[in-house]
Amino acid sequence: MTRETPVILVDMDGVLAAFDRAYFEMCAELGFEVDCELLDRKHRYSDAHIIDPAHRDLAYEEVCSPGWFISLPPEEGAIDGFHDLAELADLWICTKPMEANPTCRDEKARWIRAHLGKEWESRLILAPDKSMIRGDVLLDDAPKPRWVPRAEWRPVIFPHSFNGPGSKWESFPRWQWGDDPQALVDLALGGK
Ligand SMILES: [Mg+2]
Repeated sequence: MTRETPVILVDMDGVLAAFDRAYFEMCAELGFEVDCELLDRKHRYSDAHIIDPAHRDLAYEEVCSPGWFISLPPEEGAIDGFHDLAELADLWICTKPMEANPTCRDEKARWIRAHLGKEWESRLILAPDKSMIRGDVLLDDAPKPRWVPRAEWRPVIFPHSFNGPGSKWESFPRWQWGDDPQALVDLALGGK
């Protein structure tokens, strides 16, 4: 690959896999009352929107259970958008595993096989600290600010209601599925 083909690291939860949509649906199914709509949430972690602390604990048990991660639906436009982006960039999937869920790592690999295709499984990087991974851009809905100074990559925010103006991610560029893939490539080639 030439220098004109940038390395883009793509986060899973909240970018490829619709973790919070599944979370809100689970709350509705189990009768856990929440204080806002999915698209209006202001907290990074959806459990903060559950009103009853006992329900919060029960929701955490669900998320820690085998089957949670493989059952997540794709974010809207993610599958087509990912393959379009792959025409222009060297894509790797970079995700922080949830250690409390014993099958999270395997289910993330299975999810990639099921939704993106078998050939993408070998491009899964499980990284508790994404600043350790090389790349030109990290497309992520909530990169940890402490990673940014020491990372090689430039953070690009995948927009949700919780990471917009007033949040700690407001100063970073933003890009989402459906936007022009070349715009993300240009951000990657523009340097940190
Ligand atoms: Mg994420």
